[in-house]
Amino acid sequence: MSQFWSAHVHDLDPYVPGEQPKDQRYIKLNTNECPYPPSPKAIQAIQSANLEHLRLYPDPNGDIVKEAVIEYFKEYNLERNEVFVGNGSDEVLAHVFCGLLKHDLPLLYPDISYSFYPVYANLYQIETDVIPLRDDFTINIDDYQRPNGGIIFPNPNAPTGIALPLAAIETLLQRNPHSVVVVDEAYVDFGAESAVSLVKQYANLLIVQTLSKSRALAGLRLGFAIGQADLIEALERVKNSFNSYPLDRLALIAGAAAILDRDYLHYVSRAIEQTRSTTVQGLERLGFKVLPSRANFIFARPPQGQAQSLYSQLKERGILVRYFNKPRLNEYLRITIGTDEEMTELLTQLRRLVG
Ligand code: PMP
Repeated sequence: MSQFWSAHVHDLDPYVPGEQPKDQRYIKLNTNECPYPPSPKAIQAIQSANLEHLRLYPDPNGDIVKEAVIEYFKEYNLERNEVFVGNGSDEVLAHVFCGLLKHDLPLLYPDISYSFYPVYANLYQIETDVIPLRDDFTINIDDYQRPNGGIIFPNPNAPTGIALPLAAIETLLQRNPHSVVVVDEAYVDFGAESAVSLVKQYANLLIVQTLSKSRALAGLRLGFAIGQADLIEALERVKNSFNSYPLDRLALIAGAAAILDRDYLHYVSRAIEQTRSTTVQGLERLGFKVLPSRANFIFARPPQGQAQSLYSQLKERGILVRYFNKPRLNEYLRITIGTDEEMTELLTQLRRLVG
């Protein structure tokens, strides 16, 4: 409480990011980062950059990244005014909440999903109607047949990792022609189907993606959105009322290089899918129940639901995972997929702790 704060600040309930320890002591499986380095082409782009140019402002439009996104999705013939770029997909999402999701009717999202959504809704004073997932943690699109001013969900969902098929997303778009349906595809490259193929057909579809996961650039901060020009214009208006230069010069060149390195993306995401599958088998052998994940993390219930104590015991042994002390989630651990070696060490420790 402070006399200096704007009144609304007293009511904010800020997002709490996963721990980022300052030392390298931990096997870090808690914030869904990529265990592999970024594309060598992205690193090369930064190493050969003319750093004297840092005295100049960057391109406020981020065109080189937009062009890279257009090239990456070239079969869909996107135009530059159908792509938006921002400082991480969190910033893109913030502009989406501000520019497209505040209406008289409530915004719908799943009760178990990205915990930044309620934070943005509160920041922008957006009314919400939070829809419970089914008992098996899947989204039932029939529950979204109610008056709404917008719908948002991650696909695959977080922290469950469960993906919604493209046909279900198309049904949601058809049922809600008057509200924007935002598909947060932060984890889509690890085996789910992207809805980018539907953008030209549906004026109400907005897709958000990030370079933080499959492109291993969480530290660079770069996210983007794809949608028809009318939706993108709203985001540009908000962005240009907030920060004209969200992407610095190094982020622009490295981000574009990473997006264009399609082979490296495939190599990294296939490696993670492979490690995910062996990790799931190992956990199931130890009696864990693991939800079917299409993401670079898994959501797993230990044999006796002793997630909180396992979280602490793993931390003492140098392994960080994520624990959510919330109803329905508190018997599960969210475990990011690391390298094969890291996951072998995790399984070794867990075998001692639960075996
Ligand atoms: N969406 C989802 C579902 C996420 O889990 C995350 C990662 N915390 C983000 C968006 C934001 O990622 P970033 O800001 O690094 O792009």
